[in-house]
Order: sequence, then C-alpha cells, then structure tokens
Amino acid sequence: MASIPANSWWHQKGELELFAKSFDPAARLSLKTGWVWKFGALRTFATTIGRTMYIPANWTPDAVQRVIPHEVLGHVKQFRYAGLGIHPTLGIFPGMFFFYALMFFPIFLAWGRYRLELHADTKSWQYHLNMPVNNWSPAIVRARAERFAKLVGGKEYLYSVPRPWAVWGFKRRAEKVIKEATK
Ligand SMILES: [Zn+2]
Repeated sequence: MASIPANSWWHQKGELELFAKSFDPAARLSLKTGWVWKFGALRTFATTIGRTMYIPANWTPDAVQRVIPHEVLGHVKQFRYAGLGIHPTLGIFPGMFFFYALMFFPIFLAWGRYRLELHADTKSWQYHLNMPVNNWSPAIVRARAERFAKLVGGKEYLYSVPRPWAVWGFKRRAEKVIKEATK
C-alpha cells in the first residue's frame, strides 16, 4: 500500500464514516489504492460506487467532510434509487448500465452524467447553506456552482455537456437553492 500522509483523512476514518452514515446508513469510506484509480481525474477526485466512497489518501479530514453530503446525499442515494430503494449496492448494475455506461461517450450522450452531478451538488448546497455553524454563504455556493460546473463540462468529466451549458444550468439551480434556503 502506498504511504499515507500524516494529515490524511484516513486517520479519522471512523468519525468521518459515522458522518456519512448519518445521511445513509449503508454508506462507507474506502481508500483509493491500486492501479484502477491511476487515470486522469480519478486520481484526484472522490468517486462513489454503490455505497462506497473511494477517496485519495492525500485528502484532509476537512476536505472529506465537505464532500460527504455531495457523495452520500447525491451519489449513494442515486445508487439506492437505481436499486429500487432497497440498498445502494443493488443499484450498481442498473446504475452503471444506465449512467456510467455513457462515461466513454462525448457530449450530448452524457446528459445523464450532467444531471447526476447537478442533483448531487444541489443536495450539497442545501445541506451546507442550512448548517447551523460554518454554513456556506450564497456567495460560496455561487462560486462553488461555477467552479464545479466547469469541471462537469470539461475534460475532468469527459465533456458531459458543453461547458457554457453546464455553467448556465448550475448557476440557475444555485439561485433557486439559495432563494429557497434564505426565504
Ligand atoms: Zn459527483
């Protein structure tokens, strides 16, 4: 196994996993190790498959905590829906088939991937805007929406949709979420 940095999230796995389970009891965290994660964006991002979030060793506990609502309220729940609500693991096959099978196609065919990320980030914004302490301001949500939309419309997500569309769609959704959270 590759060496694990001193400030790695891995040293606080238990606590972080409990946090993840507060959103879905089946959720769990795992270290990204092995050759399968060595390609492009997979090396630096968190990836959720079924109930498991795979996270690179060099992420800090804070970074993992910030991304857990996106991964669990978004992607673990998406796998759970694909598994008919029974268990996220059951959703792996249909989920992979319908959505991730499109991973290797370029724009237009990857609308599903764009929608999945928009859904996951919407859940994350709602969660972070409504946190009692250290909540995200509308300005943080707007900045996050624009930055992440550029990734979703960029090479990191294999050009799921044209980048200006992604930015437009994420910004529009962010304003809606902000309006709902602040009324
Ligand atoms: Zn995502």
